[in-house]
Amino acid sequence: MGNIFDDLNPEQAAAVKCTEGPLLILAGAGSGKTRVITYRIAHLLQNKDNPCPPWRILAMTFTNKAAAQMRERVNKLAGPASLSVWISTYHSFCARLLRLEAEHIGLSKDFTIYDDTDSKKITEICLKELNFDVEKFKPSVICEMISSAKDKLLDPESYGVHAMTTPESIKKIAADVYELYQKKLKESNAVDFGDLLRYSVDLFKNSNTVLEKYQERFKYIMIDEYQDTNYAQYILTKLLAGKYKNICVVGDDDQAIYSWRGADIRNIMEFERDYPKTTVVYLEQNYRSTKSILDLAGKLIHNNHHRKPKKLWTNLPQGDSVVYTEFPNEFDEARAVADKIRAFIENEGCSLSEFAVFYRTNAQSRIFEETFTRFGIPFIVVGSQRFYERAEVKDILGYLKLINNPLDDLSFRRVINTPARGIGRATVLSIEKNAVEKNLSLYESAKDMHTGGLLKKAERFVKLIDSMIAEKNNMDASEISRIIIEETGYIRILEEQNNIESRSRIENIQELVSAIVDFEASADDKKLASFLENIALISDVDVWDDNKEFVTLITLHLAKGLEFPCVFLTGLEEGLFPVGSSAYTMDSLEEERRLCYVGITRAKKYLYMSGAAQRRIYGQIRWSIPSRFVKEIGLKPEPEVHREIFKGDSLIEASVEHDVPAGPGAASHFYKGLRVKHRDFGEGKVLEVSGSGDDLKVIVQFDAGFWKKLLVKYANLERL
Ligand code: ATP
Ligand code: MG
Repeated sequence: MGNIFDDLNPEQAAAVKCTEGPLLILAGAGSGKTRVITYRIAHLLQNKDNPCPPWRILAMTFTNKAAAQMRERVNKLAGPASLSVWISTYHSFCARLLRLEAEHIGLSKDFTIYDDTDSKKITEICLKELNFDVEKFKPSVICEMISSAKDKLLDPESYGVHAMTTPESIKKIAADVYELYQKKLKESNAVDFGDLLRYSVDLFKNSNTVLEKYQERFKYIMIDEYQDTNYAQYILTKLLAGKYKNICVVGDDDQAIYSWRGADIRNIMEFERDYPKTTVVYLEQNYRSTKSILDLAGKLIHNNHHRKPKKLWTNLPQGDSVVYTEFPNEFDEARAVADKIRAFIENEGCSLSEFAVFYRTNAQSRIFEETFTRFGIPFIVVGSQRFYERAEVKDILGYLKLINNPLDDLSFRRVINTPARGIGRATVLSIEKNAVEKNLSLYESAKDMHTGGLLKKAERFVKLIDSMIAEKNNMDASEISRIIIEETGYIRILEEQNNIESRSRIENIQELVSAIVDFEASADDKKLASFLENIALISDVDVWDDNKEFVTLITLHLAKGLEFPCVFLTGLEEGLFPVGSSAYTMDSLEEERRLCYVGITRAKKYLYMSGAAQRRIYGQIRWSIPSRFVKEIGLKPEPEVHREIFKGDSLIEASVEHDVPAGPGAASHFYKGLRVKHRDFGEGKVLEVSGSGDDLKVIVQFDAGFWKKLLVKYANLERL
């Protein structure tokens, strides 16, 4: 093995060697921040003067996949000691910590982790129980409010106090729901994602002994993508690093894209204030992208005001120019992308995995999926293959979760009559009633009623669950799952149905068993609890295999940290990207711009940017002008831009034209920002003016929420 410092530039090497004391690495995209963390771990393990035991190192990554990659690389650099380093996401770290210390926070070690779907379900149950109208107060909205309270470490009580002081009545409802929600989770011996962090912080705050144990243990702490940490993660880190303060955070304020999920950019901006003796390292050489791509990224991000200025340069060649094309509609856009990929593959022998298509919203993947299918281009949509969300998979998992944690009421509800065993709504109500009267979990209540002769239909069910509970520590998870599938007759029933749907469901169940077997082959702990924790924390990017021969379709948010030789950045239209329409605040617009910056900087060699003049959204055709980001980076559309012109609501002209800059002059009586009124469309604001005389056109953003391009001559617009 060579010297690891041979692979690093002097600044990177300095950061790797600087192991003692707080270290902030603030640097632009592709400058080797993640690489520095990886090499720093290897260096700590191999340091001749003072090698660090692997279990004293903690590294936090943004996804489980990034954690696995980092471990693999450390393993290559420093050998199998890497296996004992804690490299994980914050959530996985907390889950592991809480399992070890469960009794300190009033949970049993078998606690269940509820995913977002489970959390929404419980929120809905709580809303109904509190007699709120779930049509009016959407469970998903309330659930998000609870989750964001947790990210700020607010417990139900403090959130309640906070809600009292606001005029927003929905917050008061959320506060009531939060209290009941939390009670239900506690009774079910369950935690949600937010609790993982909140309880970990509580654990450290409530017990000095426990805190000191972990402060002592994790002598070296490293955090990737620090710009996207939230308040709870910030506090947790601060507690952990409290003794040695050997904390190294890396990040890029220009890539902060998760503020809508509670991330707080101040964590990185004010790091030096929190840790006064911080060494700051700037990395300025980008190793990922060609000059063309990097220049463009720089131009774009320059438009943001809230940022630390950075230099970023590359030794890589100029490369091909970045191309921007405005297509007539989204189908043409998708076809052009498919054509381009095909041409690359045929002419240059590229592999499919070198291509990625980025878009702002999930819904945009559909057109690409359909087009690629027609073109015979294999693709994978990151985030869509929610295997563990499928009903049949959730059913079997429901059994496994109940066996692991018999207090888990949500899983009990899922499986008590699945497959059907004649236990209807009325019986479930009586089980619930008995549970409340005797202060039992639903499963205990069913068992109690069965023992008392009141629930004959549940005999096999209770016997099966009980016997599995007794065996769960002696059997592997795969064995338990096989017994469940056999004893409940789940597959047998599907076999009897014998149609395409049922056959695919059988395959999914078989796939689940394979997933469990795979897990057992690689995990140290093969127990049921360990498998369940692993899948509860799986994220969309984690299940994506980047080595397979597929084109990757992915949202910009999920593309963070990744890189591809060729990127198609699509849907660059005002209203779509930046998303939303008129109601930008400066902050939200800057975040959209950062997202665009993240997209651009994923590309290594080729970047194609595009948008569509017309696109169907929510079933309505919508007209768009090119995203302001395109203008900011000074890209001109490819010459051929087809636009169709409307008279009132009907198409009067389909033309080929160039973008004409807006502003006064020929069009002085119509100008950007002017308020106008149209007989059918109502009031709106002029966004762009082009052409002159009979050809004078305006793009109006109507208050009703859509855009129109109108020929002034016919549109009969009233100036307001
Ligand atoms: P991002 O901001 O996107 O998270 P990053 O700063 O974490 O990027 P890395 O992913 O660590 O950057 O590195 C970007 C690319 O450059 C990777 O392919 C990495 O292997 C390569 N790279 C980084 N430093 C060097 C170096 N000194 N020599 C050669 N290649 C390097
Ligand atoms: Mg990185």
